Amino acid sequence: MNAPRLVFKDVLSHEIHQALAPLGVSPRIARRLQAAVLRGAASSIPDEMPEVSPRLLDRVRDVAEVPRLECVRRDVDPQDGFVKYGFRGVDERVFETVWIPLRGGTGTPKAIVCVSSQVGCALGCAFCATARMGFVRNLETWEIVDQVVRASAESDLPVRGVVFMGMGEPLLNYERVLRAAEILREPCGMAIAAKAITISTVGVVPRIRSFARARLPYRLVASLTSAIPERRRELLPIEDDFPIDELFDALAELHAATGRRITLAWTLISGRNTDEAEAIALAERTRSFPVKVDLIDVNDATGRFLPPDDAERDAFRDALTRHVGCPVDRRYSGGKSIRAACGMLATEVGAR
Ligand code: SF4
Repeated sequence: MNAPRLVFKDVLSHEIHQALAPLGVSPRIARRLQAAVLRGAASSIPDEMPEVSPRLLDRVRDVAEVPRLECVRRDVDPQDGFVKYGFRGVDERVFETVWIPLRGGTGTPKAIVCVSSQVGCALGCAFCATARMGFVRNLETWEIVDQVVRASAESDLPVRGVVFMGMGEPLLNYERVLRAAEILREPCGMAIAAKAITISTVGVVPRIRSFARARLPYRLVASLTSAIPERRRELLPIEDDFPIDELFDALAELHAATGRRITLAWTLISGRNTDEAEAIALAERTRSFPVKVDLIDVNDATGRFLPPDDAERDAFRDALTRHVGCPVDRRYSGGKSIRAACGMLATEVGAR
């Protein structure tokens, strides 16, 4: 039986060293191989590397593989420059990745990459296009890592952040998501700072508790969308499995473990979750730990759910400030013309 091959993009550089040390690969050469594969977006072990013998590279090539996503589609939003990629990995199913340029503001221009963690999703959020695909499969670690590698290779801005807000519920592919985050942090590779990695969840309570207990350095954002259980259940069916009381207990544990303010994402839907009752309900639930609320307009291609107008949005924002007294940010969700905005990612088998 053949020994399993070493799969680059699935491994950390110290693991590359451990696996290849018998061939004569030092820790330094392992880091350089990792850099060549990740920063160079390579599809094979390079033929040449300074100060590394071609014979050693041949031997590495014999035992290692460098998987690479197939890019089947690339769309650019002419309004805001967002780029949406359709990728294929281990099978014919296509999943999506969004490159997000951040050129405005006072900081240095940079980009972030929004990655998928699953093909489809089982959680059935009412306003989400991915939900309509149902759950297909979890992505492999290398399939997550390569989304960032490939989008970075084409980026004219330095990629400084990764958000797990594409297709799927990241905490239902927990081990691979965390492993991908670790690989993306490696200084010899993509060098994404831990605090610039954001993992979003609609509230998988046991995994939020695991995340808290592991004291992970990443930012966790909980999609709340309503603080009133009956309303939340209609929008986010996960409320049946993990009710809001349990969710807030887990978020309190996360705050106690990390000392960090908890970020809650709120998808704004006109007439559904933007009234004063929501702000009062949230205030009651957040007495024991500090929160910040990110407001995102719903993007529902079916037209069933509509975003609020400015007056409705401003009134809700004021109500949150008055009752909860927390920072409230409005998140821009771009790429609408290419269906790259929050809640719009969806593909069919073999989609192009
Ligand atoms: S919003 Fe996220 S968790 Fe909900 S169905 Fe869509 S992909 Fe799944």
